[in-house]
Amino acid sequence: MRPIQLQPLFAGAQTIDGVGPKLAEKLAKLINNTVERRDLRVVDLLWHFPTGLIDRRHRPKIADAVPGELATIEATVTSHAPPPPGFGKAPYRVYCSDGTGELELVFFRGRKAYLERLLPIGEKRFVSGKIERYSERLQMSHPDHVVTQEELKDLRLVEPVYPLTAGVSNKVISKALHNAAQLACKQIETEWQDAEWLKQQGWPGFAEALQTVHQPENPDDLSPNAPARQRLAYDELLAGQLALALMRHHEVTGRGRALKAKNSALRDRILASLSFELTGSQQTALAEIYEDMQGEDRMLRLLQGDVGSGKTVVALLAMAFAVEAGVQTALMAPTEVLARQHYKEFSQLAEKIGFKAALLTGREKGKTRAKLLERLKAGEINMLIGTHALFQDDVEFGDLGLAIIDEQHRFGVRQRMALQQKGKKSENGASGRVDILVMSATPIPRTLLMANYGDMAVSRIADKPAGRKPVTTRVLPVQRMDDLLDGLQRAMTGGAQVYWVCPLVEESVSLDLAAADQRCAWLQKHFGERVGLVHGRMSSEEKDAVMQRFVAGEIGLLVATTVIEVGVNAPNATIMIVEHAERFGLAQLHQLRGRVGRGEKPSSCILLYQGPLSASGRARLKIIRKTEDGFRIAEEDLRLRGGGELLGARQSGLPQYAIARLPEHADLLAAARDDARLILSRDPSLSGKRGQALKTLLHLFQQDAAATLLKAG
Ligand code: ADP
Ligand code: MG
Repeated sequence: MRPIQLQPLFAGAQTIDGVGPKLAEKLAKLINNTVERRDLRVVDLLWHFPTGLIDRRHRPKIADAVPGELATIEATVTSHAPPPPGFGKAPYRVYCSDGTGELELVFFRGRKAYLERLLPIGEKRFVSGKIERYSERLQMSHPDHVVTQEELKDLRLVEPVYPLTAGVSNKVISKALHNAAQLACKQIETEWQDAEWLKQQGWPGFAEALQTVHQPENPDDLSPNAPARQRLAYDELLAGQLALALMRHHEVTGRGRALKAKNSALRDRILASLSFELTGSQQTALAEIYEDMQGEDRMLRLLQGDVGSGKTVVALLAMAFAVEAGVQTALMAPTEVLARQHYKEFSQLAEKIGFKAALLTGREKGKTRAKLLERLKAGEINMLIGTHALFQDDVEFGDLGLAIIDEQHRFGVRQRMALQQKGKKSENGASGRVDILVMSATPIPRTLLMANYGDMAVSRIADKPAGRKPVTTRVLPVQRMDDLLDGLQRAMTGGAQVYWVCPLVEESVSLDLAAADQRCAWLQKHFGERVGLVHGRMSSEEKDAVMQRFVAGEIGLLVATTVIEVGVNAPNATIMIVEHAERFGLAQLHQLRGRVGRGEKPSSCILLYQGPLSASGRARLKIIRKTEDGFRIAEEDLRLRGGGELLGARQSGLPQYAIARLPEHADLLAAARDDARLILSRDPSLSGKRGQALKTLLHLFQQDAAATLLKAG
């Protein structure tokens, strides 16, 4: 349950003074971009920080006022000059003076009576706005504020500027956010951060930090490194790391089983059947995996390796180990095509080696499916390969001991847990005791790895299999299409196979994207029937059929949308062409290029672009041409894109922070991870005084799921 004092912060945003239903709706549009929820709550407002400020503290004498600057000027009104009759569109002018010079206030709208009340002749007023020069005269048109000495005290001389949404003025937003921050400060009095640490960092308490952030005094206060912003970012990061650590603690500790392989017969046979030696990092990864599986704790490990680095054989050997230990294994892939490909590779080998593999996707139905499930439950199947279909309730294993999830970024933590439920129940019946190995081909920079997988142990395959040829990468403007076609003609005559990737499947009038089907028709005119097409709108059967024909060599040039991005292996393909490469992200380009260079022959990747290139487009193409090291590309990607949209954060499942900025706050992230571990080692149930406060922190940053685990055990 959420602590009672937080309840008002989780009420709808319209409960805040100055926020009506209309404003709430507009703010929701503005803020939901980051929050991804429809009903906007008070707490969502808190993290919407100003991006600029208006500083009215500059108070020059009129003679010293500089055109272009914002100034607040104290002066006495000397005369009014309404537009002469018949000159309706001429401005109304008011003159004032402070003894050093004259300032002309200009109003293009505003009636006489109103202006005479606002600026009575002979009285002193403070006018604030932008100073302008018109020939030799100093002017201020439409001052932002005109106040008396008395009113000056209430004027905020420094105003925060928030990112605006159409139709809401800064004044209205400032007021609403100010009120929300006030409420939060009133409700939250506990301190969850360590006092020493705060002192050492020079950070304010939570309430002060929140207030400071919403009332910046200087441009420095807007920087991610301002103490108040750092403190709040740290709060957010700590909440995230604490949540991950709690989940891991809950998932892993003492709930596994020590798997002991009776012998290494299966693994020996697999190794003997390989035409290559395992690389050093494949061996290290395996050693780590075996050790985890033999341990009492449940395994939760990420196997990270670039496309083509050889994760599959590591997975196979891990599964063989589990089978030797007498348990069943499951391998889950994100798409049907991939599941089938894995099955095809594994089942041939499995038969030779002596264990039973089976395939379960959405396509297995009726009698076949029923029979399969029966055998699975009876323990006759050693290895089940499939898609999301593995989650279905009636899929029961005799004794599932190891689950491998390929391409984690398409699955969430919840699904990971669902798979674990398929194992035999632990003593307290909480959940199944299944070792989990997650495989990811997305190279993730260290900082982000920590942010998203802080809960997992990581094995990294860093070296490429021996004999792998580098891929030559070239960048080409579309204008050189003819040259390209000539080259392709020659290569294909020599037996080369080609991927041709287009950004979208259907022509969109507004976006002018090269449509894959049109491109296919066009290429068929050049190369005839050996041109095939695969795209995301096809059924998986259709996709499969096309891919099979490509792998078999019947198709020489395969036009594709990015459906080929993930995993599919066609070792004979040696040329990758990416059209509109400037529209792809770095990670995507890297994945695409990884589709070639998998066989004996030298490969090339040609990135076609349509000029003129944006600065970031140019930078991306340059990086991809310069290096094939996925981890370096990922680091560059992080650097180029900065916060917000990391690696297409949503798609890759990386967390979206409302406050913290990566890479700027990478150090804070590392500190938060260590802090979280320390906290839990001292007080695993968060029941101490700081522990209680940390629970509030978890709820404040909406890590309710993790907080709930505390009660469960
Ligand atoms: P990924 O990590 O993308 O899943 P794969 O496991 O599909 O990569 O491996 C790509 C190719 O490299 C496969 O054809 C595989 O047989 C081969 N391979 C894997 N390990 C090695 C190795 N140590 N030496 C040579 N080839 C290898
Ligand atoms: Mg793979």
